[in-house]
Amino acid sequence: MKLNKDVEVIPGSPNTLVYQGRVVVDQGGKNANLTLNAEVQLATHGHADHIAGLLDKNAKIKYLPKEDYWSLTLMGRRCMIYGFSSKEDKYFTFDLVKEDLRDEFSETEVEKVKLQGHTPGQVGYILGGVLYAGDSFFGQKVLESFGVPFYSDFWKAMDTLESLKEIIKSVEQVVISHGPVYNNRKKMEELLDFNIQFNLKLVQKIKELITNKERTAEEVTYLVSGSKEITNIMLNSVTVKSILMGIANEVKVSEKGIVYAYRSP
Ligand SMILES: [Zn+2]
Repeated sequence: MKLNKDVEVIPGSPNTLVYQGRVVVDQGGKNANLTLNAEVQLATHGHADHIAGLLDKNAKIKYLPKEDYWSLTLMGRRCMIYGFSSKEDKYFTFDLVKEDLRDEFSETEVEKVKLQGHTPGQVGYILGGVLYAGDSFFGQKVLESFGVPFYSDFWKAMDTLESLKEIIKSVEQVVISHGPVYNNRKKMEELLDFNIQFNLKLVQKIKELITNKERTAEEVTYLVSGSKEITNIMLNSVTVKSILMGIANEVKVSEKGIVYAYRSP
């Protein structure tokens, strides 16, 4: 789908952006094996579905934000999405890239904006008047099926969403990785607002779940998750822990594990 004379988006999950046929952002997922003849391969962050382009041997320049260099190895990638690695791969269904990345990244002139929270180092790129905002926010269906957005630091991600309201005003179009592609900036502004409201409701719901009641992070995760698959619970519990640590005013250890509560005054 062409957004303007220089920018094209190849739909997928992630959506892959191509600028002037030579700069590629977030080639991965079902677009991983496309031959795009990129001179420059950029990844917004280190998650396995965004980095296949960094394996492109013909690209002269490759860039991954430094704070996301945990992504060089499979173990690092697992640790940053599930919190740990192990010997089996049955539940690590996001192992889309199994090989190590080579530390051959260099700086790029492409305009970047910091979009931290989803990962420590996520950046967005501005190319041809289009902001590619990675996984800073998500399509409505994605949010509703997971039930929880993936944010390593939920609170940092919320700050990022606020800053995006301003950044969006300075570009013509916005593309996110997982969600519909709209040519219309207004629709993306509405989607950004939807994400903020969704997240505020999630905080409220979690606060209610632990008000004068001790619950573990996994219990809370189960109750707020859309899909109850093991992998989804593993992923969602990362964000839920980040939220719980920000709202519980009592955290202790019981025989169930770490339990969180909000004692109302
Ligand atoms: Zn991601």
